[in-house]
Amino acid sequence: MKVLVVGSGGREHALVWKIKQSQKVEEVFCAPGNAGIEELATCVNISATDIKGLLHFAQKEKIDLTVVGPESSLVAGIVDLFEENGLRIFGPSQAAAILEGSKVFTKNFLQKYSIPTAAFGVFTEREAAKEYIEQQGAPIVVKADGLAAGKGVVVAKTIEEAKKAVDEIMLDKAFGEAGDSIVVESCLLGEEASFIAFTDGKTILPLPTSQDHKAAYDGDKGPNTGGMGAYSPAPIVTDEITEYVMTEVMLPTIKGLAAEGRPYKGMLYAGLMIDGDDIKVLEFNCRFGDPEAQPLLMRLKSDIIDIFEACIDGTLDRVEMKIDPRPTVCVVMSSGGYPGAYASGDIITGFEQADKVDGVEVFHAGTAKEGEAIVSNGGRVLGITSIGKTLEQALERAYKATDCITWNKCFYRKDIGGKALAKKLA
Ligand code: ATP
Repeated sequence: MKVLVVGSGGREHALVWKIKQSQKVEEVFCAPGNAGIEELATCVNISATDIKGLLHFAQKEKIDLTVVGPESSLVAGIVDLFEENGLRIFGPSQAAAILEGSKVFTKNFLQKYSIPTAAFGVFTEREAAKEYIEQQGAPIVVKADGLAAGKGVVVAKTIEEAKKAVDEIMLDKAFGEAGDSIVVESCLLGEEASFIAFTDGKTILPLPTSQDHKAAYDGDKGPNTGGMGAYSPAPIVTDEITEYVMTEVMLPTIKGLAAEGRPYKGMLYAGLMIDGDDIKVLEFNCRFGDPEAQPLLMRLKSDIIDIFEACIDGTLDRVEMKIDPRPTVCVVMSSGGYPGAYASGDIITGFEQADKVDGVEVFHAGTAKEGEAIVSNGGRVLGITSIGKTLEQALERAYKATDCITWNKCFYRKDIGGKALAKKLA
């Protein structure tokens, strides 16, 4: 079987790594890929949003299965285009990917199907939004409707800050059309967790629990990022919470989407806020989380191709997923300045030493090849991912490997998994 993976991040490196383990797979391509993926797959220089270019490539190469990493390709309609042309592809249709593509759609959907979420208002006029903010008071959260690479959300501590966010999104058009409508919602307290599952539109097969670390610096300080690390399992998500999320969030979502004429197949990711037994949906993503994909795929023992195919064929009820009981972690190494401006093109050293650490995989995100050297080529550069008998051992291994690798001004959080360790000690 020939497989094409779409995307270029750590998530896609982990997907390629896992797909390569399948006996069914002969050849893997990745578009556009990165320097790490190049070691495992043939990288082709087509961007993830050039869906027509990707279709032509898949037709020319007679690709048997395409697996989509990023939301941008899904929201652009890659699944519809491939299916119209008789190609097999894993991911939700454009109509279903709206769950991530429009926060206004999702908030209205959650309300309609009585799925727990923060109280909210939807606005297309700035003045009305500001009036609502005045009424509700701070802290309050302002969100651009459309995709904004995680930057379209402002958790405002004051009314002024919230109003400024309204102007930035709706007047200055900081995120273009994504800001034509906004959601203003109440600020939730608690701990966030990721609930990620495979689904064929009827059956939901949840992966183990996981948690990422969105803030740039230790102690959850600094600006929000795409994710500075992740680990699995996340003890905050108890068996009771898993059951609650399955019955009150995941199943009603799949059923509701089907009732709306938007049947959902692919990865369904619910971002949750957990405050004791109060659980609310913060957001949905229509794809694997990044960095959560790295620790989760390291724990997945089943052939991932069987799961992808069962999702496409509607036979997920026949799949039994095998999971390694050992915990995994991922420490993201980033370029200095990220998530703001950062330099690229710095030579990265230490891969050989890091590779020698037991139980570690170095997944690449923003990397490129320059001659023989591997250089930084993005904000998030590497995801040092490891498995251990205990969370402590997994962390020790990840940080041992992280210590081996360096480039000019690189940085990473030193407290990945800290919340889980604290719960263990409590
Ligand atoms: P991403 O794609 O990066 O996960 P996003 O742009 O889809 O993010 P959200 O997940 O809705 O946006 O929000 C980003 C972050 O903002 C959340 O992970 C959370 O930390 C914070 N946040 C969002 N909504 C709320 C809320 N109602 N209360 C408190 N914090 C919130």
